[in-house]
Amino acid sequence: MVQTQLPFRDKLALTRAKARVGCLYNESHFKTNPTADMTEPKTWMCLICGWIYDEAAGLPDDGIAPGTPWKQLPMNWVCPECGARKEDFEMVQI
Ligand SMILES: [Zn+2]
Repeated sequence: MVQTQLPFRDKLALTRAKARVGCLYNESHFKTNPTADMTEPKTWMCLICGWIYDEAAGLPDDGIAPGTPWKQLPMNWVCPECGARKEDFEMVQI
């Protein structure tokens, strides 16, 4: 996350992006609520090609350590199989 002085347009874009993804950015909320549902590893499936991201397994080949929550993947992260964006993924139960 870029915290240093952004040009105004970037700030606006960032605000819009935050509004769009909503709770994904309420990390302070989770930090102050240890009982929040943050401990259970989840899996996310690409709706385009069916590739699955397993939070417990991470994606070591991509520099994503095992145990990395979905919401901590970079905004510009894409599906390694088909290039779909994070918003094209859906949480799934296995
Ligand atoms: Zn995909």
